Amino acid sequence: MAPAAPPAGAPELILGELRKELTEHQFGCWFGAATLDTPHSGRIRLNVPNNFYREWIQTKYLTLLRSCVARILPGATEIEVAVQPPAAAQGPGTPTNGRSTPTRGPGTIAPASNGFERRLGPSRDLELNERYTFDNFVLGPSNRIPHAAALGVVQHPGKAYNPLFIHGSVGLGKTHLIQAICHALLERRCDTKVLYLNCESFTNDFIHALEHTDLERFRNRYRYLDILVVDDIHFLANKDRTQEEFFHTFNTLYNAGKQIVLSSDSPPGEIPTLESRLVSRFRWGMVAEIEKPVYETRFSIARRKARTMGVDMPEDAARFIAETVDSNIRELEGSVVKVVGSALIMERPVTLALVKDVLRNADNAPPRITMEEIINATTRQYQVKVSELQSKKRTQSITLPRQVCMFLARQLTGLSLEEIGGYLGGRDHTTVMYAVERILELEQRDQRLRTTIASIRDRLGA
Ligand code: ADP
Ligand code: MG
Repeated sequence: MAPAAPPAGAPELILGELRKELTEHQFGCWFGAATLDTPHSGRIRLNVPNNFYREWIQTKYLTLLRSCVARILPGATEIEVAVQPPAAAQGPGTPTNGRSTPTRGPGTIAPASNGFERRLGPSRDLELNERYTFDNFVLGPSNRIPHAAALGVVQHPGKAYNPLFIHGSVGLGKTHLIQAICHALLERRCDTKVLYLNCESFTNDFIHALEHTDLERFRNRYRYLDILVVDDIHFLANKDRTQEEFFHTFNTLYNAGKQIVLSSDSPPGEIPTLESRLVSRFRWGMVAEIEKPVYETRFSIARRKARTMGVDMPEDAARFIAETVDSNIRELEGSVVKVVGSALIMERPVTLALVKDVLRNADNAPPRITMEEIINATTRQYQVKVSELQSKKRTQSITLPRQVCMFLARQLTGLSLEEIGGYLGGRDHTTVMYAVERILELEQRDQRLRTTIASIRDRLGA
């Protein structure tokens, strides 16, 4: 006589039992991609994506699985864990081949290995930039260490350097390098669950989840990854709730051996108001700084950039650009684009003479002053520390220089209110607006303040 058919819905019920016994994370991690068959009521087959899952489940969860099965199908004595890669699995229901679908169903949660967002749509988050690969990254003494660490992460994700924390000023290649890690991991295994996003997206997503009481979706999104890459993590400054949530995200991923990569404009200990437990975690792995590129690196980058635009830049021209533009790589690239673009418009070859013409014209424009310079000049004038300006301190001796800094930034740079706030401890745009108005008003009636601001301007040559 044929064995009795199992009751309908048994697989879902068994998975439901398992889910009750495990944490969300454990269940998602080990059983999220699993499906259950009940070929007949005496036999249970758990299908998992690969051998790794099978061994893990057999050693750690078999007893639990048995007891869950016993509750739903007391007659089932045979329990098998079988490898069934998700791609080979069949469509909905069990009848055709006795296997249930690996896609979302009442007994499964978002599968860990398929149907998962590999890259995020532009409306929500940043796409990876195709240019930001290791191949396109020019090596030099200023970036050799972070580059080596990034390669280490690709070779041994979750093991070599976890977290990898890369810091440095703007335009020095942080985003490029951390995206290169994502590209390389995806190239190696296209099903690697990579999430790259900037800190602002994480924050906005969290706030959205709070507003819509949808924290579970939020957590599922961040906690079942192989690698989480957060760009510009210094924007966590002054965001207490987000810091707390990030702390839990970090722990969950870290404890599951998943890789975390972060970039920031300053080392962990100098991110204002960053909780000390996060500071210490950010230091657990590898903290590496990208420094300003030396002349030779700038030269190589200039030539390479021209080549990507289809132009072979003569050596003397590239030397001139590398000597003149030494602030950051973004500006260096900008100069090359300007030169090559002008050559195309004027139908002239790229020569040293043309480079001088184009860059000299650019020099005629009022010199651009960076936020860094303003912060340096202001802190020197007032004899305060940069970290104090970025801190939450509200004593007058710190508040005034901070507001002066915001005021000068507004006048001398093209930065938005948000960006200025970002440099000064992640303050929001209304704080910056208020500071600008206050200093404007004070300047009218305070001769000493006027003199001080004038001497900061002198320092800046503005
Ligand atoms: P950051 O994130 O530090 O502000 P980015 O990663 O955005 O800087 O880099 C700015 C620009 O400079 C990008 O176009 C990037 O491709 C380029 N760049 C930075 N470092 C390098 C490098 N070592 N080799 C080639 N291009 C680089
Ligand atoms: Mg960046």
